[in-house]
Amino acid sequence: MAEMDQKSVPHVLLFPFPLLGHVNPLLQLAELLCLSGLSNVTFLTTKHHHHRLLSFTDARTRFSSFPAFRFETISDGLPDDHPRSYTHIIDIFTGVRSVMEPSFRELLFSNYFQSVNRPPVTCIISDGLMSFPIGVAKELGIASMDFRGTGASFLWCCFRHLNMVEAGELPFKDADMDKLITSIPGMESFLRCRDLPSFLRGCRGKVLDDSLKIVSSSHDLRPNATIINTFEDLEAPILAEMRPHFPKIFTLGPLHALLSTLHSGRSISSNNSLYEVDQNCITWLDSQQPNSVVYVSFGSIVMMTHTQMLEFWYGLVNSGKRFLWVIRHDFVIDKDESFQVPADLTSETKERGYIVEWSPQEEVLAHPAVGGFLTHSGWGSILESMMAGVPMLCWPQIGDHHTNSRFVSDVWKVGLDMKDTCDRLTIEKMVNDLMDTKRDELMRSMEEISQLARKSVGKGGSSYGNLEALVNRLIAYPILF
Ligand code: UDP
Repeated sequence: MAEMDQKSVPHVLLFPFPLLGHVNPLLQLAELLCLSGLSNVTFLTTKHHHHRLLSFTDARTRFSSFPAFRFETISDGLPDDHPRSYTHIIDIFTGVRSVMEPSFRELLFSNYFQSVNRPPVTCIISDGLMSFPIGVAKELGIASMDFRGTGASFLWCCFRHLNMVEAGELPFKDADMDKLITSIPGMESFLRCRDLPSFLRGCRGKVLDDSLKIVSSSHDLRPNATIINTFEDLEAPILAEMRPHFPKIFTLGPLHALLSTLHSGRSISSNNSLYEVDQNCITWLDSQQPNSVVYVSFGSIVMMTHTQMLEFWYGLVNSGKRFLWVIRHDFVIDKDESFQVPADLTSETKERGYIVEWSPQEEVLAHPAVGGFLTHSGWGSILESMMAGVPMLCWPQIGDHHTNSRFVSDVWKVGLDMKDTCDRLTIEKMVNDLMDTKRDELMRSMEEISQLARKSVGKGGSSYGNLEALVNRLIAYPILF
């Protein structure tokens, strides 16, 4: 095949940042592209995550119906037995820079794909936490897109960081945390210092610089388009502020729900969990009354201290509510093997609680027994809760969580924000607010948002239409996007 011909065959390479919360939505996007008629799709992930995907999900079977789809792997530079947990996050970033980046360049500049009878890559869709894949795409003269598994609002906060610096609003250390931030258009009336991501508040580090390079308007590392796992009706005012500053934005969320539409409404296990799922909790939920259970999960990387865990535990038990709590094996930072759970907690938990190491979260949230979700406010969890119509109690910790939880409580009004507190009395009170006192009010907004989310992923909805537009464009102009 002549070079021009080869280059006109679309071949999309998707490349997530090596963290579960990042792998999962990009793999959902890969499946959406395949289901929409793109044939040459490659999903490049670390050996570690690939192994987990094959061990704990049905990804291999699901993708086997797309003959031109390929999984490819790359090393993350860490030894097999490295915990890859949040306390070692620096190692993950170091591995990305020192090992993944050169290997990625080598792979893309080699004739590897031709040697395995694949056309050359025409478009790279990479995680917004990494800028080098976009640089590689520019050097190769092919299209590039950054994928954001976070909300548009968080991305807009990052985009405006220099404006905040110019306005003297950043950096801050001992500021009044309730002071409003005025230099983010669309958020002037509700975003406070305490709602900014913690990494934006102080001095900027390397990680932040890399991620911000992509959103800085003047930078030559701008991708041809940005794909966001959100939906128009949820973040319309913010998206309207953003669009003039971005070459092109495709909102395709909630991806997991769009996937279910493309599978003709069949409920599929789109959640590409990288842990072994404990299905027994569903049997436990089956025996509970409707809306009686608080589901508690802090996602895949947030950790807490023993003291914090005990505050949550007492708060939950003292609320008198039934609860299903995900406690990952690596959840406690200062793990002490000699620690004994106080006897009162053990007996009360036996009566009203259920603890698992990892749950089938989408299934749990959709279960009629679940009436509320105590969450770290990860974007994936928020979208899943919205689709299931379950109101939230947010305990934000890192990354986008602080901004997300402000939107949940004050903009969308589908939950409560417990930020910057962690004591048993507050937890008890807020769990009761979530499940009883404030439930009706929260449910009114939640039902509306849930309906809008469903509409966006249904035929004729905004995310559905945007996916069609994206795929048509990728097919018609593979490298000239
Ligand atoms: N999740 C799950 N089972 C659990 C806890 C979490 O399947 O017990 C999934 C959840 O459905 C979501 C993802 O893990 O898709 C967590 O993503 P999120 O963006 O909420 O948080 P992160 O893990 O990135 O902090």
